[in-house]
Amino acid sequence: MKIILDAGHGMDTPGKRSPDGLKEYIINRAIANYARDALSQYANTQILFTHNDKVDVPLQTRTKQANAAKGDCLVSIHSNAAGNGKAWHPATGIETYVYLKHSPATKTLAEHIHHQLIATAGLPDRGIKTADFHMLRETVMPAVLVECGFMTNQGDRQLLGSPLFQKTCGEAIASGIARTFSLSRPQQMNLPKKAAAKGLYKVQVGAYGNRQNADALAQKLTKQGYPAYIIFEQS
Ligand SMILES: [Zn+2]
Repeated sequence: MKIILDAGHGMDTPGKRSPDGLKEYIINRAIANYARDALSQYANTQILFTHNDKVDVPLQTRTKQANAAKGDCLVSIHSNAAGNGKAWHPATGIETYVYLKHSPATKTLAEHIHHQLIATAGLPDRGIKTADFHMLRETVMPAVLVECGFMTNQGDRQLLGSPLFQKTCGEAIASGIARTFSLSRPQQMNLPKKAAAKGLYKVQVGAYGNRQNADALAQKLTKQGYPAYIIFEQS
């Protein structure tokens, strides 16, 4: 399963920043990294990036790469802007885009990712929309573009700049992809009793219905030197 993640823009793309100077790419890239980390927890996944830190990879190059790599799906990650982009604006919330003409598979992918973002990120639901975006039009696999909040809204911007929110969005994208393609995590499969099989035995120490409790335990473990991470399982 080849998953293509595309963090929109580049480090020095003109104009793409919040009124107080936070670069959109910094946000998008962080969310892409968290999505990659979460997706790596599933069996048989390979995650490819079309962006890089050195240049703003042209859109044509991004979609060519994605198509040449024969990706099974693509998610382009963005942060929204309203007004002239230089002043704060009241528009807020999360929206997800698909191409004007899209396959049922694309629609399902968009629904699963969008639903998970709305369920976990805590911002208003602006819905799933259609648009003639290059990343959606020129890709041959199911492709979705997410706008994880408005850089031009003061509340959204605080969230978009926070690692916890970026992680929540990254994990929501990963879990939407996982649900669409029925990806399985190693701990959901039959555990081999002997060590003959190659793989990882993972240790779970807690499961909470409340995100704060999970964060608190993860922080405690990290402080004690255990590399903890949080996985959200839909019940
Ligand atoms: Zn963007």
